[in-house]
Amino acid sequence: MQQNINSFVFSSPAYDGFNGQFIAGRWVTGTEGALTLDRNPFDNAVLAEITQASLADLDAAFAAAKEAQTTWALTLPAERAAVFLRAVSILDARKEEIIGWLVRESGSTRIKAGVEWGAARAGMLEAATMPAAAQGHIIPVDRPGKEARVYKKPVGVVGVISPWNFPLHLSNRSVAPALALGNAVVLKPSNDTPVTGGLLLAKIYEEAGLPAGVLNVVVGSSGVIGDAFSRHPVPRVLTFTGSTPVGRHIAQTAGESSLLKRIGLELGGNAPLVVLDDADLEKAVGAALIGRFMHQGQICMSTNRIIVDASIYDRFVEAYTAAVKAVKYGDPNEPDTLVGPLCNDSQVRSVKASIARARESGFRECVSGPIEGRLVAPHVFADVTNTSDFARNEIFGPVAPIIRAINEAEALAFANDTEFGLSSAVFTRDEARGLAFAQRIEAGMTHINDITVHDYPHVMFGGEKNSGLGRFNGRWIIEEFTTDHLISVQR
Ligand code: NAP
Ligand code: MG
Repeated sequence: MQQNINSFVFSSPAYDGFNGQFIAGRWVTGTEGALTLDRNPFDNAVLAEITQASLADLDAAFAAAKEAQTTWALTLPAERAAVFLRAVSILDARKEEIIGWLVRESGSTRIKAGVEWGAARAGMLEAATMPAAAQGHIIPVDRPGKEARVYKKPVGVVGVISPWNFPLHLSNRSVAPALALGNAVVLKPSNDTPVTGGLLLAKIYEEAGLPAGVLNVVVGSSGVIGDAFSRHPVPRVLTFTGSTPVGRHIAQTAGESSLLKRIGLELGGNAPLVVLDDADLEKAVGAALIGRFMHQGQICMSTNRIIVDASIYDRFVEAYTAAVKAVKYGDPNEPDTLVGPLCNDSQVRSVKASIARARESGFRECVSGPIEGRLVAPHVFADVTNTSDFARNEIFGPVAPIIRAINEAEALAFANDTEFGLSSAVFTRDEARGLAFAQRIEAGMTHINDITVHDYPHVMFGGEKNSGLGRFNGRWIIEEFTTDHLISVQR
């Protein structure tokens, strides 16, 4: 089924499908002279040919954002909210078209694409509440006639760099709050998902009535525009979602900017799912299955290590093995496929390397299957050691390590023995025990008796250690994308 890339209603005369940049409210050709070939990872079909942005295009995008932001910041809260409510209507009206794009461009299964569409929609609804939620303070001070007021203001321009795994949602998770709070944005999606991570989102907001220049999308090679983006003096906040090594590099480059900027990093994870001796085994197996295999394991919160108490270890391994053997993998467009293709060839190489490491270490291969093109069958390895390279690295693929812990204390030590600290989970029938365990996990997010993958637009999201800096969603993202100005009055 070939999508119709021109099926969006034109509201801009220059719009001619997704083939270039969106700068200053115009659909323009990138001037770098190279093309991004946007391919379907399942069948390699070319979905779009996109002219790449040059350094001049990047400067034009930041200049347009800077210019448009002043007027945008002066719009009334309800006017800004209305843009997001209209965007939600567009998402509803074009649900199938958007899900189709997610399936084709990022190898999302229909299950995952539906989840992602819902997350983007929920994020837009939450953004509609933000213009009126950004509130300042009046603070009493110890001086007669003195009043301290703290005004909350947009930061100005926000730069967003987003990944390919949840492209629509993870771009929108930064873009929507930034815009709602009166900022303008320049967004650089991944070259693997230039449409769902950028141009499609821009089209939705354009149709929703967002003024020209408030959102700009640049599609280009990271080697050409990456450092210039991070180092650019215009954005006051730079928010990056992606891998830890690239996040570190971007933080360094941003530090070289002539004007200092705030930086938010949402990076890799190595989520443990801990099954204590009194856990509901069936629920733990189900959560460890979905949490590992949804979107082929390519989620920052994916369950990367399953740590099981020795007393129920053998039963867990047996039940998990049986459950994983029944997982359907293959064509992402079939409604019950859970594991579709990996997003790109470098992902395939990296997942193959993980499997090779597990085999070299001699871990017990409970579930295995073929690797054909970008399609990797689910794999399960048991008796994995927590200190092995296999367990220490983020696998980002449909490969599950199971680790035996002699007791609760060892399970906790294993869970925390990682450079990462994004999501985590613990299974126990005793809620108080679960809470006490959760409080000792070094992570930004811990779920008791549930999967490791959760993201609600009004609930805090973020990581510790090498999983990142800063917090997303709700009132936390309001703090990230606004700045406070103290103005005191002496009467
Ligand atoms: P990535 O390689 O770090 O890329 C992320 C983004 O950075 C892409 O847009 C990429 O563009 C861009 N980029 C690469 N090099 C750059 C440079 N020098 N300057 C500026 N931009 C640059 O990560 P990924 O492979 O797309 O995503 C997988 C990783 O992201 C995993 O580690 C995962 O855990 C993490 N992740 C974290 C979260 C979270 O919320 N914590 C969410 C999702 C994913 P190109 O792709 O075009 O090169
Ligand atoms: Mg692609």
